[in-house]
Amino acid sequence: MLPVYVDLDDVLSDTTKSFIKILECEFGKKVNFEDIFSFDLKVSFNLTEIEFEHFFQMVHQPDVILEFAPMERAIGVLEEWTELGYEVSIVTGRLTAAYETSIAWLAKHNVPYHSFAMVDKFSRKNIDRDIAISLEDFSELKFSLAIEDSAKMALYSSQKMCIPVALINRLWNRMANLNNKIKRFRSWYDILNDFPTP
Ligand SMILES: [Mg+2]
Repeated sequence: MLPVYVDLDDVLSDTTKSFIKILECEFGKKVNFEDIFSFDLKVSFNLTEIEFEHFFQMVHQPDVILEFAPMERAIGVLEEWTELGYEVSIVTGRLTAAYETSIAWLAKHNVPYHSFAMVDKFSRKNIDRDIAISLEDFSELKFSLAIEDSAKMALYSSQKMCIPVALINRLWNRMANLNNKIKRFRSWYDILNDFPTP
């Protein structure tokens, strides 16, 4: 059985919702979650390059990451799958500086998983190549199913890696042109309905 690929931010962890508070506190900006239209948060939050750098470093701080809430029902679904013998691979595009804290977050919430990989999904700066693997190397891996919120990664996984993709509906992916290997889901409840096994 091939493992299931599960993205971390906005798939397992309700990450972006917590950014609203930070934005108001640090930058005095009021943004509604419903207004986050772009995956590029610099665009959605209307930040300058310098403001965004500061913001992005900040949301990768351990005390911020450890406070992210899990997405509703996500961990329960992973528990059900692992009890049936399926393997879970956590695949994140977070900055590599957040490696230990991300592992600590998974432990804090007792997330069942078999492997954890940092992948340079979005060609970000400040990525330690000894920790994160390239997208090209990642594409050699095999999975039964990918669960993502990024339209770019959904397309990459379905086209280049030939994996069926469950795309969690988020405001920033609603306009994306998808293909027939990608199916949209509103929540983990709906994912489990379609995939009692991954
Ligand atoms: Mg994500």
